[in-house]
Amino acid sequence: MLRENVRFYTNLDPVGRTMFEMRVQRFISTKRITGVDTEIDDKIRLLVASSAIIPTFAFPSFTYPNVNEVLVYPGAFNKNFETHHDAKGNILGMVGNRFMQGIVILSKPDLLKAFDGKAHTFNVGVHEFVHLIDCLDGATDGVPEMLIDHPYAIPWLSEVKKEMNKIKHNNSDINPYALTNDAEFLAVASEYFFDSPEKFAMKHPELYEYMSKIFHQGLVQENNDET
Ligand SMILES: [Zn+2]
Repeated sequence: MLRENVRFYTNLDPVGRTMFEMRVQRFISTKRITGVDTEIDDKIRLLVASSAIIPTFAFPSFTYPNVNEVLVYPGAFNKNFETHHDAKGNILGMVGNRFMQGIVILSKPDLLKAFDGKAHTFNVGVHEFVHLIDCLDGATDGVPEMLIDHPYAIPWLSEVKKEMNKIKHNNSDINPYALTNDAEFLAVASEYFFDSPEKFAMKHPELYEYMSKIFHQGLVQENNDET
């Protein structure tokens, strides 16, 4: 199932794949994954766990202390957690706060769309888990302390501002939802970075370099020097 659906896994070497499998197993055995008005099977559990492991793959001992349960919804939902399929502005995933602390919600069809084995620039699962990494230091601000050392925060944020300007002027293929704030920028750019690293590296070389450092990942093989 991983081979067929999860490109990040397919691109790993055999040692990396074994590591990934172990991390996914640990996630599944320590977090509750619950379907809400929808059936979930091993594939869904695997895709939820993969979403969590992809952005933290370089941090083998990291276990999401702030996550207890992932709720899988039958579709996109609104702010009252009612599922609906029509109108725009639907929520595909979210991280709970206050009474929803420790809970992540993901839309099943959007999770399946993100992991159909093809390259995309979106991935609702990776998006939400990046928020969870970001909020660990107490602030969901696009500067997760676990990933960005203090001296690098300012250069990173100035890179973010530069790209936001390009998005505003239609000179970027990054989803304009990234303009919402620095935290959304990080989550949206991470979806693209992990789902289509080759394209991201080509179109956004500077961001790619920063994000490779942030996530301790060189996702694109450096086997040709021509650019
Ligand atoms: Zn978000």
